[in-house]
Amino acid sequence: MNAFEATNSYFHQAADRLEISAAMRTLLITAKRELRVEVPVEMDNGELHTFIGYRVQHDNARGPYKGGLRYHQEVDIDEVRALASLMTWKTAVMDLPFGGAKGGIAVNPRQLSRRELERLTRVFVDQIHDVIGPDKDIPAPDMGTDAEVMAWMMSQYSKYHGFSPGVVTSKPVEYYGMPGREEATGRGVGVLTMKMTGRAGRKPSLTRVAVQGFGNVGTHTAKLLSEAEFRVVAIGDASGGFHRADGIDIGAAIRYVNAHDHSLAGFTEADPITNEQLLELDVDILIPAALGAVIHAGNAAKIRARTIIEAANAPVLPEADRILEAQGVTVLPDILANAGGVSASYFEWVQNRQHYRWSLDRVRQELDALMLRAFDQVWDTAREHHVSLRVAAFMIGIRRVHRATQLSGIG
Ligand code: NAD
Repeated sequence: MNAFEATNSYFHQAADRLEISAAMRTLLITAKRELRVEVPVEMDNGELHTFIGYRVQHDNARGPYKGGLRYHQEVDIDEVRALASLMTWKTAVMDLPFGGAKGGIAVNPRQLSRRELERLTRVFVDQIHDVIGPDKDIPAPDMGTDAEVMAWMMSQYSKYHGFSPGVVTSKPVEYYGMPGREEATGRGVGVLTMKMTGRAGRKPSLTRVAVQGFGNVGTHTAKLLSEAEFRVVAIGDASGGFHRADGIDIGAAIRYVNAHDHSLAGFTEADPITNEQLLELDVDILIPAALGAVIHAGNAAKIRARTIIEAANAPVLPEADRILEAQGVTVLPDILANAGGVSASYFEWVQNRQHYRWSLDRVRQELDALMLRAFDQVWDTAREHHVSLRVAAFMIGIRRVHRATQLSGIG
């Protein structure tokens, strides 16, 4: 099963409940537009190199397409298509006035200089500027891209279309960005983890958490939870995992990665473990915040956490999802759990359109309120229909996109 089929298997579980016709399912699953472009770049040594870039615009029934841009050597159309459709259900479950899209370039960004990355980004915008825009399609960072890449995109797009800060989100704060955007995904994960812990009647100080991935999402999640007195007993990144039963000093770990090229390699304040061991630790809450597909049929039965919060996109494969459900593990799905990022992007876009700036306090308040409202809707739907939180979240998202599609005169 490829990434797109995996996403669609969740779609069908929810569509079955909603009794959506086969014809409408095909329409809702199929991307409206898939663009593949050649991106020729002159490298620093004068050689010409050609990269392949994609932008998949999945659905815009509820508003302009919205979704990240990924720079990674394994990017292919199938992965981009899957992530684009996830964005449609994510923006819908959050009730943001956006559709879903995703883009990517098959490149290892670590092998390019910043100047080469800038040229790559600007040529990519040259190829796609006609199909993006503040009212058409609004990219944002994803793996391998950052605020500076967004600044280059805005600058290049504005050369064609005039001053357009709303064409991309997650820009640098000093360049039409917004304070609070960088922490937003991790903050959303943390806020919902606290909410679920409260619903379960658990005390944070007695709740053991493992976080896989210590980049943007992992660090902000771990920081918020440790400040709220959760016991974060394990963290990990591409270099491996680290465990300390009494809880890891997250402030010290963040200072460590900041001083060591964003890596935990060599961190001595916890015991080294493997990434596989981290996933299978005896903890209460497991938060995968790195790659997709890390929990699969091969390791699902070994997961001991009773709650999984999907901070990463698609970390649990459908066959693992079934095993976990049978084991009574509660999974908070990605389209809700990590939606803090796109929600904050929405706030940034609104401010760009209004040429107005919110305070950090306002961003946090509005974000927390949006996350908690969506959580309550998903929770209530799951209870009402006796389905998992994932199926409930998909049901809400699909219902909204389906209705908007019908109201636009189709179906
Ligand atoms: P990032 O690049 O900042 O961090 C990724 C982390 O994962 C790093 O610590 C890296 O070392 C670690 N990692 C990489 N390979 C690993 C492996 N094999 N095992 C364990 N750890 C590994 O990325 P991020 O922005 O924190 O995103 C993490 C996940 O969250 C991704 O799945 C992304 O799609 C998703 N996400 C991010 C945002 C956002 O706003 N940043 C929003 C929604 C979803």
